[in-house]
Amino acid sequence: MGKLYDELCKDYRFKEGMHTCINCGTCTAICPAAEFYKYDPRKIVDMVQRGSDEEIEALLKSDTIWYCGECMSCVTRCPRKNGPGLVVMALRDLSTRLGYFTESEKGRQLYPLTRRLAENILRFGYCVHPDSLNYEDHLESGPVFEWVLNNKKEVYGRLGAQYGKEGPGALRKMPQKDLDELKAIFDVTGGTERMEWVYKHSEAKAAEWGMTPEQYDRYTFEHCSRGHFNTEGENL
Ligand code: SF4
Ligand code: SF4
Repeated sequence: MGKLYDELCKDYRFKEGMHTCINCGTCTAICPAAEFYKYDPRKIVDMVQRGSDEEIEALLKSDTIWYCGECMSCVTRCPRKNGPGLVVMALRDLSTRLGYFTESEKGRQLYPLTRRLAENILRFGYCVHPDSLNYEDHLESGPVFEWVLNNKKEVYGRLGAQYGKEGPGALRKMPQKDLDELKAIFDVTGGTERMEWVYKHSEAKAAEWGMTPEQYDRYTFEHCSRGHFNTEGENL
């Protein structure tokens, strides 16, 4: 077994999710991601259990590990008590730590996602908050959404939300002590460190491509090539 396999073995998700795979394909049959993407959890588990560094490195640098929705449907059905979704979580973590995620399009999207969703959790206490949204980033939502964003206070007030105010209710302003607690949870659970890995490796990739972090963020946020879905031609 190679060094990357040994690294995976240190991850509790891998220990829990990786036993002997008999290649039955039940996980793939139940997997909602396999329905849409060129994605096959059976192949991932089979490839990982061979323990080849070369194959695991290729996986860590591929789009494949970013297709999983982490729904864990596979965990409930595997006759060998494997958890392909847990194996994928361990692969994602290792890919993020080593910076291999910057070698695939779906992996590179970790940068805009972290800058938006993870930062939103720390700033607002919500992964998506209307104050973090720009209409220009979500043109597909149409002009009504633009109008809503320009009239948030009135719209959310009419809907009974607690937008921008403290106290119970949807969209309430989180007290600073709760935000501090969230940050402490990120710190002790490894979330902060993982965000740092994403920023460090993504900004190195941006520099390699001759882009500023802002340009790289915009590019990875907007750029999505064809070839990821089952209904399209061969994935490259
Ligand atoms: S956790 Fe991932 S691999 Fe497992 S069923 Fe859900 S999407 Fe598929
Ligand atoms: S269901 Fe379990 S044993 Fe069957 S292919 Fe998937 S991981 Fe392997």
